[in-house]
Amino acid sequence: MKELVLPLPDEAATVALGAVLAQACDRASVIYLYGDLGAGKTTFSRGFLQALGHQGNVKSPTYTLVEPYALQPLAVYHFDLYRLADPEELEFMGIRDYFAQDSICLVEWPQQGTGVLPDPDLELYLSYQDEGRQAKLQAVSAYGEHLLESIQRQQG
Ligand code: ADP
Ligand code: MG
Repeated sequence: MKELVLPLPDEAATVALGAVLAQACDRASVIYLYGDLGAGKTTFSRGFLQALGHQGNVKSPTYTLVEPYALQPLAVYHFDLYRLADPEELEFMGIRDYFAQDSICLVEWPQQGTGVLPDPDLELYLSYQDEGRQAKLQAVSAYGEHLLESIQRQQG
């Protein structure tokens, strides 16, 4: 399966989708999160991180660009590249080390890091729909397809 579209009627649905994906992610992976400001990228990331045992709040690392979370079974790096002026900055902050590790990388505003970021396994596109949101998930790698199938089984 390459694509899955899901309605997210309220914030809890966005959190739940993050949790379902977190439970499915059992190896190193890269997930791109697209959507306008306020579309729910950080809300989704909070659901993801809390499902892996992170307690407390999650805020977009807008100024620091990345926030590391030491979780099991894998570390998670949450990026927000909104304020990245130049993708080359990512090289200076040692981005290759983050992605080389056995970790899960969630990346808000990946279009800001074009040419430097590694290819994703999965892309999530969040858009406004009435009072809620719509999620479109697109698999980019074979592992991404496996993740989509896990999500669909959970939603089914
Ligand atoms: P982003 O990181 O994309 O800028 P945030 O997650 O920080 O967005 O903010 C999203 C806002 O929208 C939050 O106020 C959150 O409560 C709300 N929200 C998230 N998901 C939904 C949803 N499915 N329906 C309605 N509101 C949502
Ligand atoms: Mg955000």
